[in-house]
Amino acid sequence: MNSKTHILLIYTGGTIGMVKDYESGVLRAFDFDKLSKHIPELEQLDCRVDTVSFESPIDSSNMNPDHWVKIATLIEENYEGHDGFVVLHGSDTMSYTASALSFMLENLAKPVIFTGSQLPIGDLRTDAKENLITSIQIAALQKKGKPVIQEVGLYFEYKLYRGNRTTKINAEHFQAFASLNHPPLAESGVHLKVFDEYLMQRKNTKRFVVHKDLDANVVILKLFPGLNREVIRRVLGTPNLKALVLETYGAGNAPTDPWLLEDLEEALAKGLHIVNVTQCSGGSVIPGRYKTSEQLRQLQIINGKDITTESAITKLMYLLGSGVSHKLFKTVFETSLRGEMQQK
Ligand code: ASP
Repeated sequence: MNSKTHILLIYTGGTIGMVKDYESGVLRAFDFDKLSKHIPELEQLDCRVDTVSFESPIDSSNMNPDHWVKIATLIEENYEGHDGFVVLHGSDTMSYTASALSFMLENLAKPVIFTGSQLPIGDLRTDAKENLITSIQIAALQKKGKPVIQEVGLYFEYKLYRGNRTTKINAEHFQAFASLNHPPLAESGVHLKVFDEYLMQRKNTKRFVVHKDLDANVVILKLFPGLNREVIRRVLGTPNLKALVLETYGAGNAPTDPWLLEDLEEALAKGLHIVNVTQCSGGSVIPGRYKTSEQLRQLQIINGKDITTESAITKLMYLLGSGVSHKLFKTVFETSLRGEMQQK
C-alpha cells in the first residue's frame, strides 16, 4: 500500500451503521457522520479515504435494482479519481448486490469490496471494525502501481471472496458468508495473504463500462416435493415474465411428471428463458447425469452449472437489460462473464 492510495467508502446502510432504538429495541440506520466517529482508526490507515453515503441509509432488505444503479453510478463518477472502492452494505442481500455489480461493471480494473457486519459498529463485541479496516486495506493493495484486486469482492470475517460466488449462510455467526464453489481470494490473519491464482486475471485493457439497464421481469422458483401444477402455471403465466431461475434438486434434478415438462416446454416456446440452478449450496448442475435431469436438458433449458442463485438472478437481469438476442441467450448465460461460474 502506498500513502497516495485513494479509496472511496460508500455507505449504503446495514447493521454496521445501525443504532438501537431504546424504546422499541428495533435496529435502525443512522447517519454516516456518526459511523465515522465510531472508527477513529480510519485516521491511522496509510491511505486517503473519502466517504459518501446514501442520503437515507437502508436496511439491505430494501435493496432493489435502482439502488444497484446508484452504487454503480457512484463508482463510475469516482472511478478515475480513486484506486479502490469499499461498499458498506447490510449482509442480508449483500451477495445479490455484489453479484449484480459484478455484471454491471464491465472491464473493472480496480477493487470494489463489499463488507458489513453482524453487530453494529458501536457494539462492544462488534465485528464491524475488522471487516471495515481490512476491506480498506485490501482495496488499497497495489503491486507495481496497479491494484492487486481487479474485481468485485466480498470481505467478511477474515476472508475475501469473489462477490458473485457468495451466499449468506448464517444469520447469527460472524462467519455469515460462504463461497462453496470458489476458494477465497484472500485471507486475513497475522498476515494478509492474497491467493493470486484465484484472482480474476484481466486479459485486456478495454475501457471500463457501466451497464445500468437491468430488467427485473424475472423470478426464482424453488422445487419442493408437493409443488403443485396450479402454482407453477400461475408463476409461468405471470404477465411480462422473461426469465426464471428454477432451483432444482442435487445435480439439477426435477420430478419427471409429464405435466411439469409440458408446462415448462410451453413456457419455453413462448420465449421464457429458464435456468437450471441447484438448490444445494455447493456443487454443480450436471445435465443428464440422472434421468430426472435428462428431460430438462432435452428441453434446452439453460445450464446454470455451479452458479449461485443470487448470481443467476442478477445475471438474468443484466443480460435481459443488455438486449442479448433470444438465439444467443443460452450460450451467453452458460459462459462465465465475471468468474461467476465454471468455464466448462
Ligand atoms: N438487516 C441487516 C441488513 O441486511 C442485516 C445486516 O446488516 O447484517 O441491512
